Amino acid sequence: MIRFSSVNKWYGRDHHVLKNLNLEVRQGEVVVVCGPSGSGKSTLIRTINQLEPINDGEISVGGIVVNDPKTDINTLRAEVGFVFQHFNLYPHLSVLDNITLAPIQVKKMSRSAAEKLAMELLERVGLANKRDAYPSNLSGGQQQRVAIARGLAMQPKVMLFDEPTSALDPEMIGEVLGVMQKLAESGMTMMVVTHEMGFAREVADRVLFLADGEILEDTTPEAFFTAPKTDRAKQFLRQIL
Ligand code: ADP
Ligand code: MG
Repeated sequence: MIRFSSVNKWYGRDHHVLKNLNLEVRQGEVVVVCGPSGSGKSTLIRTINQLEPINDGEISVGGIVVNDPKTDINTLRAEVGFVFQHFNLYPHLSVLDNITLAPIQVKKMSRSAAEKLAMELLERVGLANKRDAYPSNLSGGQQQRVAIARGLAMQPKVMLFDEPTSALDPEMIGEVLGVMQKLAESGMTMMVVTHEMGFAREVADRVLFLADGEILEDTTPEAFFTAPKTDRAKQFLRQIL
């Protein structure tokens, strides 16, 4: 579903931020990406929907070559949902309108069909009763659940998450991880940058450990947590566990 072949990216001339990455994510797989701050995790997942261009190599998602200049960015982004650390909901739109906007404008869905879909998604994230609320009246955890529903409204093949719980108060982390776990169990292909190692252990099929723009470990959660191969990963785990 996602394939990186010899992907390189530089910021400017000197900063080699992704170093010859090769990676495959199969349909339905859940891959957690972890690693020290500044290792390139956000850059890695932002390249998948062209939020960041690459300099060299190839990335494809469900057969669409992301870095082909002929690829239509709207087609690509309809296939790839993205949830950020800061929820980035539209503050002037209700919850329902936040979710229906892209399906109506980009997918040309009818308003009634988009609202029906939005209500199904709000049921899934446990917020059907908030359809008419505005983002500023929701807690951080609720806003992030709406952001997940909004991503799903485009019916993507893949969902990407960049530290979706790191801006939340601790008591709200569980409700967001719970929604993500249900999504994983429903068969969604997911890449998740997170430091929530409980989520990685319980939900991930694989863990990637990134350091200085290189994938140092690509293994099962079991192997990563019990027998990390590299000193960098051992050191990282000592710091966060
Ligand atoms: P992580 O998400 O693992 O913390 P990032 O992908 O955000 O890492 O950043 C990797 C490195 O690239 C860091 O050194 C960061 O300062 C740098 N970087 C990130 N975004 C940019 C940018 N837009 N321009 C220049 N350097 C950047
Ligand atoms: Mg980051």
